[in-house]
Amino acid sequence: MEIHTLHKYFLNCSAACTDTRNISKNSMFFALKGTHFDGNSFAAEALKLGAKYVVIDNPQYAVNEQTIVVNSVLETLQNLATYHRHYLGIPILALTGSNGKTTTKELINGVLSQQFKTSATKGNLNNHIGVPLTLLAMTTDTEIGIVEMGANHQKEIAFLCNIAQPDYGYITNFGKAHLEGFGGVDGVIKGKSEMYDYLITHNKYIFINADDPIQVSKTKTARIIPFGTKKNQKYTLITLLEANPFVCVKFKDQVINSHLIGAYNFNNIAAAISIGLYFKVPFKSIKKAIELYVPTNNRSQIISREKTTLILDAYNANPSSMAAALHHFALQKETPKTAILGDMFELGSASEEEHDAISSLAVSLPIDQIILIGSHFFQTKTTHAKIERYKTFNDFKTNFKPQALMGGLTLIKGSRGMALERVLDLIAQ
Ligand code: ATP
Ligand code: MG
Repeated sequence: MEIHTLHKYFLNCSAACTDTRNISKNSMFFALKGTHFDGNSFAAEALKLGAKYVVIDNPQYAVNEQTIVVNSVLETLQNLATYHRHYLGIPILALTGSNGKTTTKELINGVLSQQFKTSATKGNLNNHIGVPLTLLAMTTDTEIGIVEMGANHQKEIAFLCNIAQPDYGYITNFGKAHLEGFGGVDGVIKGKSEMYDYLITHNKYIFINADDPIQVSKTKTARIIPFGTKKNQKYTLITLLEANPFVCVKFKDQVINSHLIGAYNFNNIAAAISIGLYFKVPFKSIKKAIELYVPTNNRSQIISREKTTLILDAYNANPSSMAAALHHFALQKETPKTAILGDMFELGSASEEEHDAISSLAVSLPIDQIILIGSHFFQTKTTHAKIERYKTFNDFKTNFKPQALMGGLTLIKGSRGMALERVLDLIAQ
């Protein structure tokens, strides 16, 4: 079936779905293959559950005239998304970077939705399936689309840009994340910059943080919309007033008090302000949107327990975000300060060195107690009376004495696979 014909069918559907567990009525079901399942085998069930059409690539599973057989369901989903994006003809803003994509996306969406009907990536649906689904969730009502793009290897961002074909882009930062797949920090810069390559080749716009020399040097030939913190420059000047613990920023003589902690969130907020101003959102609406945004899902959340305060940042970790979190943590006034840190994954051959570096950094900072959990941290060489090491979460759990945290401040951060939010269950409400 030609893509424009399929698109006509799609316009009569309520949504694109890939999972029969949350299918919506009258949707178009795409029977994707995963490592453990073959979506084709769910086609009949999807129809039973209310799908209007099912798109499959194994004719054996054809059910009735509501079945559309294609060569590859995944490629069809991606091509349909690109077609839909052009059919809507709205500006698409793409975001990538090592850290802070989801937070920045949420902030930008909050800001732009003050003035426009926006549609943005839901949660963290930022890969070769999530990006097409994000585009297909946009409707004729949508005025601006915001698309998060994640990557852990080369050519992935280029691929996602070819699907979404963005008009605007922003890279939050280039950090030490997914070093294994990208091949070191230079590999991260090269891989993430594929978004710049796309935007420059197509003569589109790039929002940049002019304080970041990599962003500046990579966009020399681009149409840029810069923001930064240094006075007397020709860009949107936004300054950090404080991060104690909440980030407070200034634009002209106006102050925004956010609910985000960590100076690293300053850039995320500054990007959202700069993008809001570019799209002519009134400053008071920008301020309102940023002040309303309260992070959830374990991203730099502040949790008050009866006798202690926790900075729960257990959503994820890599050397850059771990260092940023530790520096911020060390600046806080409350004592005693305990950092409970879990292993950082996907670092390949840099793993040992990076875990050693984080242990040494933690020791060098004014942090009273450092609890390291996981087999990578367990092997680190730094020794100090402040450090306790546990090979597994269970070893930690057995020895953990919550009363040691009492009255103070505790940072909890580790890679997703460490699921350090489990620490909360060990501390009484
Ligand atoms: P993912 O790759 O999982 O999609 P992401 O890039 O979307 O991650 P967020 O989910 O916004 O990132 O934030 C994850 C964590 O990264 C935050 O809790 C915080 O610790 C850290 N972080 C956020 N912004 C920055 C930043 N600008 N620099 C360094 N670390 C950051
Ligand atoms: Mg994300």
